[in-house]
Formats: sequence, C-alpha cells, structure tokens
Amino acid sequence: MRVVLMGPPGAGKGTQAKKVVGALDLAHVSTGDMFRRMVAAGGDLGKRIQAIIGQGHLVPDKETSEVVDAFLTQESLWDSFMLDGFPRTVPQAEMLDAMLARRKKSLDAVVAIDLSEQNVLARLGGRRSCLACGSVYHEVSAPPKKPGVCDRDGKALQVREDDKPDKIRERLRIYESQTQPLLDYYAKSGVLKRVPGDAEADEVAGRILAVLRGQR
Ligand code: AMP
Repeated sequence: MRVVLMGPPGAGKGTQAKKVVGALDLAHVSTGDMFRRMVAAGGDLGKRIQAIIGQGHLVPDKETSEVVDAFLTQESLWDSFMLDGFPRTVPQAEMLDAMLARRKKSLDAVVAIDLSEQNVLARLGGRRSCLACGSVYHEVSAPPKKPGVCDRDGKALQVREDDKPDKIRERLRIYESQTQPLLDYYAKSGVLKRVPGDAEADEVAGRILAVLRGQR
C-alpha cells in the first residue's frame, strides 16, 4: 500500500504516521525528518536548509523531490510506504506521480488530517521537541514526565525554530497557498480521504487505520 499523509502544520502528521506505519507494515518517509537530519549533519547544504526551515519556508521543489527519490532507492520501499509531509505543492505531486509512473505504480490513498486554524495555533504553540531524538511533547496535552526534559534521552526540550509564533503564521500562509491546492488535485484522482484531526491522538490513529483498512 502506498499512502500520502497530509494536513496543516500541527495536525499531527508525524505523530500519526509513527502510530499507524507499524500496524500496516509501511515504511515511514518523513521529509521534515530527512531535512532535520541534513541540518544536524551540518555543512553548507545543512546550513542552507536550516535557514529555509527556520523561516517557516519550503525547501525548493526540485531539491525536495530529489531527496525523496534518493531515500527511496531500495525498490521494495516503493511497494509499501507512508509519505509524511511530501508532497506539499502541486509540482511536488507531479514529480511524485512521475516517480511512481516510472515504476508502474500508483498511490492507493491520500489521507488528509483536517484541523481548524485555532487548533493548529494551540497545538504548535505548546509543542516542545527533543532535537536530539525527535520525540515530540505538548505542554498541556502530552507533557514529559519531568518538565522540560525528554523522557527518552534526558536531553533538554526546545521550541523548534519554526514553532515560534511568527513562523507558525508563515507556515499556515504557505500551507493555504501552496499545499491546500493538493486537496483538489487528489480529490480529482479519487484517492483523497479526509479524517477529522480534532481528537486524542489514538482516536485519530484509529480513524486513519479504519480508512486505510477499508482501502485494502
Ligand atoms: P515537517 O516536520 O513536516 O513540519 O517539516 C518541517 C519543515 O521541513 C517544513 O516547514 C519545511 O521547511 C521543510 N519541508 C518538509 N517537507 C517539505 C516538502 N515536502 N517540501 C518543502 N519543504 C519541506
């Protein structure tokens, strides 16, 4: 099964992908995580990507698609994956279609997690991340055992640069102008499934699994 997971920033794409990939035996492919690893690796490319992400902007389409293509070099990965955060623009979706067509494959489903702007602001405002291991917490709804400290590796939690208020607004603006048009793009090809995201994480995961199991 080949699936794309979409949603506005803060809708819980990363959290949900981690919850459902195991149950469905899919590879989790997160472009955000790939870019954050590239930033951690440093170098000129890492610094350039860090500046783009820190501003809440999108990495250019061609570069993003190349990173995805390079990640999915193992052909078996093309049989069962969940793309989390890619595509984010119509040109990226077209590039993904071309990558799939080259392998005579297609998408089975595009799951869009819906969340109102008000909820997006509440969620991202309280998000605290461990930049070392990638664990994500929320000050109110999913706090760590010890305030400000990651449960997994004991490192100090931080507010991601792109989770600061002005960057959140910029990411929402970009989502509306560049990513939302993808909903139409996928609705037209008949693969779009919408899932309300305003519930506990486990409940949303259950909704996503139900939609995808119905798809098999
Ligand atoms: P995420 O963890 O999915 O919220 O991604 C974090 C940041 O990585 C985004 O705000 C973008 O700067 C960058 N990014 C992730 N995926 C993409 C993509 N498909 N296209 C362009 N930039 C991306």
